[in-house]
Amino acid sequence: MLKRIPFQKGFRIGGLFGIIVLSVSFLSCGEKAGAEHSRAPLAAALAAADTVINPPDTAAVVEVAPGPVRFTVIGVGDMMLGTNYPSASYLPPNGGRNMLADVRDILASADITFGNLEGTILDEGGTPKRCNNPSACYVFRSPEDYVQHFADAGFDFLSIANNHSGDFGATGRQRTKAVLKEAGIAFAGLAGTDEYAIVERNGVKYGMCAFAPNSGTCSIHNLSKASEIVSKLEEECDIVIVSFHGGAEGASHQNVPRRSETYYGENRGDVYKFSHAVVDAGADIVFGHGPHVTRAMELYKGRLICYSLGNFCTYGRFNLRGPAGIAPIVAVTVDREGAFQEGQITPVYQEKTHGPKIDSQRRAVNTLIELTRADFPETELLITKEGKLTIRK
Ligand SMILES: [Zn+2]
Repeated sequence: MLKRIPFQKGFRIGGLFGIIVLSVSFLSCGEKAGAEHSRAPLAAALAAADTVINPPDTAAVVEVAPGPVRFTVIGVGDMMLGTNYPSASYLPPNGGRNMLADVRDILASADITFGNLEGTILDEGGTPKRCNNPSACYVFRSPEDYVQHFADAGFDFLSIANNHSGDFGATGRQRTKAVLKEAGIAFAGLAGTDEYAIVERNGVKYGMCAFAPNSGTCSIHNLSKASEIVSKLEEECDIVIVSFHGGAEGASHQNVPRRSETYYGENRGDVYKFSHAVVDAGADIVFGHGPHVTRAMELYKGRLICYSLGNFCTYGRFNLRGPAGIAPIVAVTVDREGAFQEGQITPVYQEKTHGPKIDSQRRAVNTLIELTRADFPETELLITKEGKLTIRK
């Protein structure tokens, strides 16, 4: 699978660092020995690093300085690739194969790839959720073979803590979980049964847990329980990813208000307080979604929080107007402790007829720069026009 390549990249970084240490030690040894040769500039030594041959006595140097091993985690927001309910006319052409095609290689390039599964996966049956207002009733049931599109794009973790994972009742949840398991995709977010998932890749353990305000899901409101789940994962894993589906929706709710948000009469959580609480408990990356628009990012205690990743791949029954039609793919590079090192935003956009495509106008990057400046002026996170994420010096 493609997924293994980036991890080897991580190793290459470590290896290069080892060689650099080695060449620097050459230099200092030479100086100590009082060699008459002109001092080789460090830059030249570094440039020649890959031609240096390791003498036996430098092996120890490489061992004590194994280099910064880094891992890349990609997160995206809401995904619903098409629904066969109320009718197959809500399914995209070509069996959904085109939906993620334009971004598949990017998604699969990370060590770990995460997204929010905004619906159920089952061919038929289940009890559709009854709605108070049938004209505004949206329930999502994707065909089972669509799971292959997630697998092909390299998804490792999916959140099932949201307002649609219960759209087809207990049968829907059971079948969705079975289909994901068969495809080798881990999932989390249901209270009491699926509170977290752990995936091991090349000796590194990644944990994921997911929260929402919706019935049956791990609650975004219960901070002590959320912290307990995160602390447990922190003990067992190297890198802990926390997902939440919370906050009010739409273009008029793009700012993070730092208080509980109520929308359609429902408390959608205090996403700021929640995110800080889970980082305090040991979370390394927080991927938020739910507002269907992009929201700001911040670094808190050296950990990246994305307050909303927006609509990523949502076919058919979703409003994609204005800010709801753009979204970021966020790639976060962390060290072995999960501390933020750097990142990259790939801006994408959707239209009614197609899934995410790379946005040459880079709208999601511009939005993230503006919102982050407005909502978190104090953050050390710097977002460049090119979408690069770094720590402000
Ligand atoms: Zn939702």
